[in-house]
Amino acid sequence: MENTAEAVVIGGGVIGTSVAFHLAKIGLRNVVLLERSHLAAGSTGRSVGLIETNYGLDVDVALAKCGYDEFRRFSEVTGGNAEFHPRPYLETVAAKDQEAHLERAVEVGRRHGVRVRLVSPEEIAEAFPELRVDDVTRGLLSQDAGFCDPHSVATSYAAAAQRLGVTVQTKTPVERILVERGRVRGVRTAAGEIRAPVVVNATGPWCNDLLEPLGLSLPVARWQRQIFVTSPHPDIPNDRPMYIDLPGRFYFRQELSGGFVLGLVEDDPAQESELANPETDWAFKARAVEAAVHRVPKLAETSIASAWSGVVTFTPDQLPVLGPVKEAAGLYLANGMSGYGVMISPGVGTALAEMIVRGESKTIDVSGLGYGRFHGKDVVQGAGLWLSGP
Ligand SMILES: Cc1cc2nc3c(=O)[nH]c(=O)nc-3n(C[C@H](O)[C@H](O)[C@H](O)COP(=O)(O)OP(=O)(O)OC[C@H]3O[C@@H](n4cnc5c(N)ncnc54)[C@H](O)[C@@H]3O)c2cc1C
Repeated sequence: MENTAEAVVIGGGVIGTSVAFHLAKIGLRNVVLLERSHLAAGSTGRSVGLIETNYGLDVDVALAKCGYDEFRRFSEVTGGNAEFHPRPYLETVAAKDQEAHLERAVEVGRRHGVRVRLVSPEEIAEAFPELRVDDVTRGLLSQDAGFCDPHSVATSYAAAAQRLGVTVQTKTPVERILVERGRVRGVRTAAGEIRAPVVVNATGPWCNDLLEPLGLSLPVARWQRQIFVTSPHPDIPNDRPMYIDLPGRFYFRQELSGGFVLGLVEDDPAQESELANPETDWAFKARAVEAAVHRVPKLAETSIASAWSGVVTFTPDQLPVLGPVKEAAGLYLANGMSGYGVMISPGVGTALAEMIVRGESKTIDVSGLGYGRFHGKDVVQGAGLWLSGP
């Protein structure tokens, strides 16, 4: 292992690999990425891979739009394959007082060139004939969306970074981030130290393990999420819009086979022991199936073909924590991805790389996403995927 580098990136999920690739792409080649297990071992390998671009804040949309644009031309950018498949994206609400959320998303989205419009229940039924709409008041339908294979994203970014000179070292846990007199000096692993003036923490649900010894702690909640996949229905084509029922906290997309990948969101705290290998909660299956059959009644004619579970991290404002740490110059955070880390991974990598190499992220203004925003200030509400109130 090299014992000096210009930058060390910790964590081999979509975020760490994207940061490493984008650093190398804009010129920082002596970079070492350290992953304690294998690439995509954390949340990334458990993700549903939904990519969409519809949020209520400029910074969300800018990050997601950057992601969508990069996923569409992923092989051109990285030489790899994200297994990206374009699909329309539909969100619905069930009451008049929830519609402002959709209107805001359409307004912000259009500002960023997203192809999105508000739709009536009749228009929803036209776009998705099998979807039940009698309890829906309005929807948002976007063309700038699709799904990818998050594992392929991480491994492709890592391979592309390696081709540009980055060292990717798996099975190498970082034991400690080294800080001396207010400056980062590198990291310590079991195989020795790597001295570097820049260290990026991209350790997903484990971000605080390396920060707490430095006296820092991010307000990152870790929730366990259950995913169930139906068998295909012979009468439902495989290219129906990906769907989110916002008040129902329920979503799905289809596999290429046509099977529905179902996610019913419940904030079930992830226990420390479950982080490494989250297990399926089969008792939860009945509720996910009930939500699915309610929304797409024909799914009563399918069965559950497979399932998995994973851990997501959420900050109080459902926005990631990006940027430098004042108390330890050279330490950068890329944490708290708030349920949409895959779709924003290209934007996060781009922004972090520009901050590190050029001192400022010009492509996307992420200056409001530093961890200092949680110190004694009101956090932005309603920014994320899920409604946080009417
Ligand atoms: C069920 C589920 C569905 C999801 N669906 C979507 C979706 O549709 N769209 C979307 O955009 N996002 C989705 N997400 C969220 C998304 O998966 C995450 O936001 C994203 O994967 C976070 O990536 P990451 O690189 O920050 O973290 P991770 O993928 O968790 O990577 C962190 C890595 O750091 C490593 N690590 C930890 N500690 C150390 C250490 N000390 N030394 C070295 N390495 C270390 C870990 O082994 C791990 O590989 C979903 C997540 C889940 C669980």
